[in-house]
Amino acid sequence: MKNVLVAKHPATGETIDQWLETEAQQVPDMYDKASAAFQYWSNRSLETRLSFITKIKHHLLDNMDEIVDEICAATGKVKTEALTADLMPVIDIIQYYEKRAPRILKRKRVSTPLLFVGKSSYMDYFPLGTVLVISPWNYPFQLSMIPVISALIAGNSVILKPSEVTPTIGLLIEKIAREINLPKNVLQVAHGGKELGKALVSGTPDSIFFTGSVETGRKIGVEASKRFIPYTLELGGKDPMIVFEDASLKRAVHGAVWGAFTNAGQVCMSIERVYVQSSIHGEFIDRLVEETKKLKMGEDLGSLTFSHQKDIIKDHVKDALDKGALLLTGSHPDDWGESMYIEPMILTNVTEDMKIVTEETFGPVMPVIAFTTEEEAIQKANSTDFGLNASVWTKDSTKADRVTSKLITGSAVINDVLVSVANPHLPFGGVKSSGTGRYHGDDGLYIFSRQMSVMKDPGIKQREINWYPYENKYGKIRTLIKAYFSNKKQLAALMRSGIKQLRKK
Ligand code: NAD
Repeated sequence: MKNVLVAKHPATGETIDQWLETEAQQVPDMYDKASAAFQYWSNRSLETRLSFITKIKHHLLDNMDEIVDEICAATGKVKTEALTADLMPVIDIIQYYEKRAPRILKRKRVSTPLLFVGKSSYMDYFPLGTVLVISPWNYPFQLSMIPVISALIAGNSVILKPSEVTPTIGLLIEKIAREINLPKNVLQVAHGGKELGKALVSGTPDSIFFTGSVETGRKIGVEASKRFIPYTLELGGKDPMIVFEDASLKRAVHGAVWGAFTNAGQVCMSIERVYVQSSIHGEFIDRLVEETKKLKMGEDLGSLTFSHQKDIIKDHVKDALDKGALLLTGSHPDDWGESMYIEPMILTNVTEDMKIVTEETFGPVMPVIAFTTEEEAIQKANSTDFGLNASVWTKDSTKADRVTSKLITGSAVINDVLVSVANPHLPFGGVKSSGTGRYHGDDGLYIFSRQMSVMKDPGIKQREINWYPYENKYGKIRTLIKAYFSNKKQLAALMRSGIKQLRKK
């Protein structure tokens, strides 16, 4: 008997939908189907593949409100955030690849050194096969759709396993594929949790694209490495915001409040640590508290999505309070009760031995810490295991560039928050425990492609100079190498006479 999956609204507990779970035994059959679909799909022209992706764009534009409502029901997000941060990025990336994919995937000619005179060189891009996409619950739509769409454009078939925490999003994506008549099995959705994820990873993917926690990412990376399956891991963050005394205070405060509390802080690139120069620390905190108190629950902040995450947030906040931190807004975790709506929290008196500074919290909490010098700010910002995004706030552009260049992070923003992920031209991904590999931009198609480097010879010459026989060649080749790497004029003369002779021999 198959398990019935039931989806409930995270905040109200109301049943949204129910359907059958994908069983681990079905996994081999799914890969067989994906393989067959790959033969068909990879042989369609890029233009044809893009025409289906364009249909997805029109479907999303024509059904915006319905899709936003489904995302909100699955996650507890507020509508504006579902629209701007979960739906819109998918439309944006489609528009980007509609225009750019032909250039990105087309043959790239590269120079051929003079030493290989007569030959030409290029790179071609071919699809890999079946891509397994495993996605999380915080932006369940875009974090599924963007890798799926990118892999499909590059010519792969895809198996998607969305998060079991927001399972209706998998149904929504299946529905979209049906509505636009995407050829059968080019995209399959596997409905289920960790065990199903494990079975899919142990199956026969040709590439794995994973977004989720460091813990799961590490397991998948190990498993994939054993079989040399290429993978991309988009993992957690603990993003620092560094505010210097010469920053626009108002903008920095507004940026911090939005960057820490959007999506109730359940963002991999959330502002999870704010470092403020000590000369403005007091004023900055006052303004932060004032702005945070203006936020309206249900309108500016949605509910948490996953009760397990609430436990982690509670644990981090309690650990900080036990160690002497002060809670300036929001309520003590002991007073949260059963509600999934958690008021935004600002913490001061924060020290570096607290989990709130070292571990990913993924909730509406903003710890604020003072610093004195630029070096200290950089050292503190770089002090965690994570490296997803960071922001630097100052009106001094030289200082901004200098400090940014010293941050160990996959992306950074200057006088802004989070926005680097929103520009489809910019590759996105982390360093350190925040992951490996990049998507979006050109990389977003290359990670789903097998790159082949080709050197082509017209095939007329009898042989190359370094081929057999070696007799009497050593001295001549030696002269050629010396000339090649030191004296270009001598080389040109040698190329005209010597190489011809050497080849004839
Ligand atoms: P998670 O690792 O618990 O789950 C993610 C997905 O992996 C789910 O679909 C889950 O079913 C599946 N899974 C779990 N164990 C598995 C296993 N052993 N084998 C295969 N699949 C398995 O993460 P989550 O709680 O859903 O997501 C939150 C995390 O995701 C946070 O750490 C957040 O920072 C991170 N995240 C990163 C990015 C990014 O782009 N870097 C974006 C969003 C979220």
